[in-house]
Amino acid sequence: MNKIMSETLNSIDPEIYDLTKKELKRQRVHIELIASENFVPRSLLEIQGSILTNKYAEGYPHKKYYGGCEFVEVIEEIAVKRACELFGSDHANVQPHAGASANQAVFFATVNPGDTVLSMKLDHGGHLSHGHPVNFSGRFYNIVAYGVSRETETIDYDEVERLAKESKPKLIIAGASAYPRFIDFARFRSIADEVGAVLLVDMAHIAGLVAGGVHPNPTPYSDFVSSTSHKTLRGTRGAFVLCKKEYAQTLDRTVFPGMQGGPLVQSIAGKAVTFLLAGTEEFKEYSAQVVKNAKVLAKCLTERGFRLVSGGTDNHLILLDVRSRNVTGKEGEILLGEVGITTNKNMIPFDPAKPMVTSGVRLGTAAITTRGMKEPEMEVISDAIERVLSNPQNENIKKEVKAHMAALAEGFPLYPELVEPWVN
Ligand code: PLP
Repeated sequence: MNKIMSETLNSIDPEIYDLTKKELKRQRVHIELIASENFVPRSLLEIQGSILTNKYAEGYPHKKYYGGCEFVEVIEEIAVKRACELFGSDHANVQPHAGASANQAVFFATVNPGDTVLSMKLDHGGHLSHGHPVNFSGRFYNIVAYGVSRETETIDYDEVERLAKESKPKLIIAGASAYPRFIDFARFRSIADEVGAVLLVDMAHIAGLVAGGVHPNPTPYSDFVSSTSHKTLRGTRGAFVLCKKEYAQTLDRTVFPGMQGGPLVQSIAGKAVTFLLAGTEEFKEYSAQVVKNAKVLAKCLTERGFRLVSGGTDNHLILLDVRSRNVTGKEGEILLGEVGITTNKNMIPFDPAKPMVTSGVRLGTAAITTRGMKEPEMEVISDAIERVLSNPQNENIKKEVKAHMAALAEGFPLYPELVEPWVN
């Protein structure tokens, strides 16, 4: 066989090898608070780096358009079955490559260009693919947006109902990227029924909490549920859509051949293993700890004088209003990054700052909980956040906190058995 087939990445492409190795080190020494990120178990690194990447498998099990699918179609059947069992759904499509394309599939399956869709405002926590003007969703559909109330910073369900009655949407979307509270799925169902709309819940952020039983499950209330597999669900990067049986055929046809060609078979296998792991006792304990950690982090930050959007959290996510420290969200993200705490700037509801500046920083506990951190570490991290954001010019404090955060990370080793940034 050609020599290229057996040479290592390091010898073939030292530049990419070196950067991947640096990324492993970055993940190991940083305190990862990005709410949409997590660390996958070793078994998922194995499957993701497997020979499954070689296979074309257009179509669905037993109706594939390629030969040689006798093993990969069984993997897909297992993934579908496990998704349905885990979330209590009639049907699942495990082929969407990403969360945004999962949502696109539901749009294409339920509405036509020009139809009205009611979804959450991006600057109140909604996602780009729910109707932002630069996204396909905002370009091709008439988006009417609901938000949170100014007083409670929680979803204003009466406003959702009023907007639904006024605009008669064909599709209503619940679910968000930066919303720290439970969503009342039953209320969304009754609003959708009142106006004859289809209800999509995008549970990308909370899927792991739903699987672990620490967050209400949207499946019984929804016509469609979309999700990524890589956030709190702690799986390989990808997405899936659940739906009621009457939509199963339409959904499948929309994903393939409507939107995609060959699915990523290694990703489908990754989802199968992800669903298996998410059904375990250990995962239940993990997801309960994710929420406990978020609540403790929220309490510690409040005690240190920060304002949290909606006053706290019910899930894995906290939206920190950083204006009390006279910094912007953008500055907060940079300052925390300098000391090894990774976060992202985020709009807060009714934010006076521009989207690239913002007044908030979004924090999440899924990744640090995977590393084994618990309540005492939340106290330590909240102290670090407080010291850095309250002393943005003080280089000595930054140096001290950076060393402290690196030592904290070292105490909770990430992939200690890995020599290379993959499984050998
Ligand atoms: N839906 C929600 C609620 C999200 O938060 C995200 C990503 O953060 C997505 C969809 C999109 O997922 P992806 O980045 O895989 O396209």
